[in-house]
Amino acid sequence: MALQRREFLKAAGLAGAAIAAGGANWLRAASAQDRPGEADAQVAVLNVSSQEGIIPGDSLKEKVERMAEWGFQGVEPGGGGLAGRIDEIKAAIDGTPIKVSAICGGYSGVPISHVEEERTRFKQSFKELLSAAAAVGSTGVIVVPAFNNQTELSNREARPILIEVLKEIGEHAVSVGSRALLEPLNRGEAFFLRQLADAAAICRDVGSPGVCMMGDFYHMNIEETSDRGAFISAGKYLHHVHLASRRRVLPGQDERSFVEGFRGLKDIGYQGFCSLECGCDGDRTVEIPKAVKFLRQQWEEAHV
Ligand code: MG
Repeated sequence: MALQRREFLKAAGLAGAAIAAGGANWLRAASAQDRPGEADAQVAVLNVSSQEGIIPGDSLKEKVERMAEWGFQGVEPGGGGLAGRIDEIKAAIDGTPIKVSAICGGYSGVPISHVEEERTRFKQSFKELLSAAAAVGSTGVIVVPAFNNQTELSNREARPILIEVLKEIGEHAVSVGSRALLEPLNRGEAFFLRQLADAAAICRDVGSPGVCMMGDFYHMNIEETSDRGAFISAGKYLHHVHLASRRRVLPGQDERSFVEGFRGLKDIGYQGFCSLECGCDGDRTVEIPKAVKFLRQQWEEAHV
């Protein structure tokens, strides 16, 4: 009886693997249809980026030069005062292989606040930020619908309001050549929008190329049952990724694996950046290059 049960589980496991592989092929076919003419170009790439804060250096230029040496492809500036930093950012990346990935934060107001003035304040400041983000060639601007305690609306009340707000934001984003990037967080930080599939559904309902989304490995470790499944759910809407370990330090500094998530990114032919948003245990000049090497190893291990 015990043997029969083992045999059954083995057979069931193989069948599951076949379904998973078939599912990935179907997804590739579906995304090729969504993006005609791009099918052959959609071999996923690992473009490593980092928020500027964790990189050692006295100026952005010094940080960017160090990042180029360490094998980065992108830098993620903070959004605070971005309009006043356009020349500084352009000068820092000029002549280097580094590009601006996403812009993190820097707007005021709350997209799903129960107070209308707060929503208006958000729309005004976020539009300004999108224009500045476009001027530095960024992937887009990260947006959180509301942190805990920022709204009195329920999930069901907030969703249609968010769709309306984002339709207006999307229109502006397209007109300046940028995009909003919805970021799902974990329940400790936000009750609204915690899973990548939900963000993808919101993007679908907004229906604008100016409204897309991202995934953050730190939050995903808390909220998602499958990193790979989450990225597959995000599909064509995914335009940014944040990297951090379980303890929110550098990848490789604890047991958090990135392999399953990287499989998902390969499944969808991901072309965007994967950007460090984390702390660091130890000497940054030693640990950060080590983390880049670790990520490239994990990417290699992510067979699909
Ligand atoms: Mg994040």
